[in-house]
Parts: sequence; structure tokens; C-alpha cells
Amino acid sequence: MANDWRSFEPLLIPDIPNLQKIDVYEENGGYGALRKILNDTEKWSRENVTNEVKQANIRGRGGAGFNAGLKWSFMPKPDGGPRYLACNGDESEPGTFKDRKIFEYNPHLFIEGALIAAYAMTVDTIYVYIRGEYIDWVHMLQKAVDDAYEKGYLGKDILGKGVDIDMHLTYGAGAYICGEETSMLESLEGKRGYPRVKPPFPAQKGLWGRPTTINNIETLANVPLVINNGAEWYGNIGAEGHPGPVLYGISGHVENPGVYELPSGVPVMDLINEVAGGIRGGKNLKALIPGGSSTPVLRADQLEGVTMNADSLRDAGSMMGTAGMVVMDEDTDMVDVLWRIAHFYHHESCGQCTPCRDGTGWLEKILLKIKNGEGEVKDLDLLLDLTTQMEGRTICALADAAAWPVRHTINRFRDEFEARCKKSVHAVA
Ligand code: NAD
Ligand code: SF4
Repeated sequence: MANDWRSFEPLLIPDIPNLQKIDVYEENGGYGALRKILNDTEKWSRENVTNEVKQANIRGRGGAGFNAGLKWSFMPKPDGGPRYLACNGDESEPGTFKDRKIFEYNPHLFIEGALIAAYAMTVDTIYVYIRGEYIDWVHMLQKAVDDAYEKGYLGKDILGKGVDIDMHLTYGAGAYICGEETSMLESLEGKRGYPRVKPPFPAQKGLWGRPTTINNIETLANVPLVINNGAEWYGNIGAEGHPGPVLYGISGHVENPGVYELPSGVPVMDLINEVAGGIRGGKNLKALIPGGSSTPVLRADQLEGVTMNADSLRDAGSMMGTAGMVVMDEDTDMVDVLWRIAHFYHHESCGQCTPCRDGTGWLEKILLKIKNGEGEVKDLDLLLDLTTQMEGRTICALADAAAWPVRHTINRFRDEFEARCKKSVHAVA
């Protein structure tokens, strides 16, 4: 990725006043991608739409980075029964706050993307699950959905082309785990948000046991861009292998925190120093969590040459996640940071699996002891051992998400953790 991000014009949240209004959206080409498809369903068959999106390689923006078109292609052939698209707007991952910008500034782009996805997968019912704390944004999206119904983009016989698609909004009640895709399905069914064992994956057995695809809000907002401009055009934006515009949520010790739309693959240090105005008060950078709290922390000296895309971050020892970047300055107490993260995951564990229910509790307890200056160096090794007992042994990824920050923060800031431990006969020198 060269330096051309500086001349990039936003595509997901362009600087167009009142774009959230349906008339303004239409005046600026909105719903053109849907019209293009429905006006020529021979060229734009369901299969061709899926293939175009697959070729574009929209990497899921909810955190996992899975190719969206490939995920659509997992849906079985229609059998005449119900099929669902569930749009994940729960974004509860600490450091992640970008989907709400789409609800606020460009909700019709998301609705249009969801409609195209529904068409491609022969889905006639779309659910949108939004975190309960976003109640104002739920109302904003509901207004856009009502307007889309009124204009014939949603409901029966869309644009007179014989396609029926409904969209229903629903919201959570504050549980982080309901953002996990199968837990979200349980919650949508009106049950307690317990994650399900996978496989079967939701494409085989999702909502009420029927084929279901779950996509993130930002992921779906990318879809009209691909249909309007083609997979090749899309693939040339940003980093190869992880293309397209990205909503970077930058928080923490920077002068100008916020959500910034830029191509994928922007150098991490440019995002911190130029886009977000540098470290607050002219201090030095100490650490970065690149993509939400479950992605491993990187020390400042590990960030040279690293760009925000899946491959570069993997090579650096972390992950892209949701591109929710948490920036920490030289005064940050890493023991305190890690204890807070552990506290969060312990609080949010649903309790179904012993390694997670008990493991997250032990991580928090031991870290609190270290934070209070009562830990011993051997406790650090106990923590590391605990992470290996938790990882990959549970129903969902929450246990992994709790284990990774502990392992990587201790390994990358070991001196700081050891300095907080009291001397003990068991201590390793
Ligand atoms: P995952 O890699 O297990 O799955 C990604 C997607 O691909 C899922 O939809 C899954 O169903 C599908 N998939 C994977 N393999 C499949 C197969 N063989 N057949 C059919 N479908 C398949 O990841 P995940 O557990 O869905 O998500 C974990 C990520 O979520 C973490 O990396 C984290 O960054 C992110 N996260 C985000 C938030 C947020 O607020 N946005 C919150 C918590 C976690
Ligand atoms: Fe629940 Fe944790 Fe098991 Fe996920 S890993 S199902 S959150 S107990």
C-alpha cells in the first residue's frame, strides 16, 4: 500500500449532507446497484451476484475476515422453506464503534447491501440485531427502513420485479455474547443467548433450524460498491488480499479519536500520527491493540512497517479484527489494562463451558492479585498455563478471546508484570 490513502475519497460514509435521507441517497445513485440487478436478472442471476461478491473478496468486517461471497455460497439450494439473513450490528467488542456510523450517516447503503445479499441467497426475511445501548441508532435505522418500504425497496414485489424481502430490526439487552453469531440466533429466537456448537454452521442449520447467513453491517455496506463498480475495481482499493474501504475506529491516547474511513492497508503509524493527530500531549506510544480487545497487543517497537490488513498484522503477531485500534501511551499501566480486559471477559462469559466459566474467573483473580502487588512471578506462568487450558476447548471463541490478550500481554510486557510481583522463594530470577 503506497501513500495514496491521503487522496482517498470515502465510499461508505461520503461527505454528502443528509445522505441518511432516502431522497438524497437516491439522488446520489443510491439503490442503483439493486435496480441494476433486478432490471437484468439474467445477467445478474443469484449465482452471478454471489460470484462477483466472492471474487471481490470482501473480508468480513465483524472481526473474523471471512470472504463474504464465499459465506453466501455455503447456503444450500432453496427447498421452498424459509431462509434468513441475520445482520450483526451488535458490535460489543471493546474498542469497536464503527457500525453505528453507518446507521447514522448512510443507513440505506447497508439496507441496499442487505437486499442484494438476500436476493443472491434467495432469502425473503432479514433480521438486523443491534446492541441495546444503541437505541438511538435503532431508531435512525428504523426510519430508513420505513422509508425504504414506502419507496418500494422493501416488502412485496420490490420495484415491481416479483421479489419479496422484509427487514425486521431487533436489539439486544447488553450481553456481549449475543454478538457471537449462534448466540445471536438464539437471542433472535427469544431464548437466552447461549452459543451453539458448530458444526452445523448456520448456513446448514440457523434460525429456527433453517439456512441462515450472518454478516456484519459494514460488510454488507460494501456490497453495493462491488455491484456498481465490479469486483476488479474493488480489489484495487487498499491492500491485496484484504481489499476495500475500512472504517478504522481509533480510540485511546490520541489527540483526535474517532472513526475514519480509509482504504485497507494504511500504515499503522500513519493512522496514529497523521489521521488521529498523534499521541495526546506529545507523549510516546507504548502499545496498540489493533482490532478490538481480543486481538493481541503489540509493543510500539513491533509496529514499524506494519499496515492495517490481515496479512501484515498476522506477520506482526496480531490480527486485524474489527480495526478498532486502541492506542496506549508511555504512561499506560499494562497490568491494569490486562486486568480490565480479563474482568470484561469473565463478566461476559455465558458459563456453558467449564474452561471459559472457571478460566476467565481465575485469569481475573490472579491478575487482580498481581495488580495489587500481591502476586508472585510463578503466577505469571500459572496464567500462561491457564490460557493453554482454555484455548480451543470451548463452544465459542470467547474463551480464546479472553486467553489471547493474557498470553500476549504477559509475553510482550513480561518485565512490567514481573516488576509488580513480590519476591518469592518460587520466583524465577
Ligand atoms: P470464525 O472464524 O469461526 O467464523 C467466521 C464466519 O465464517 C462465521 O460466520 C462462520 O459461521 C463462517 N464459517 C467459518 N467456517 C465455516 C465453514 N466451514 N462452513 C460454513 N461457515 C463457516 O469467527 P467467529 O467466531 O464468527 O468470529 C470471531 C471474531 O469475531 C473474532 O476474531 C473477533 O475479532 C470478532 N468479534 C467481533 C465483535 C464485534 O463487536 N464486532 C465482538 C466479538 C468478537
Ligand atoms: Fe459461553 Fe464461554 Fe463457552 Fe462461549 S466459550 S459458550 S462464552 S462459556
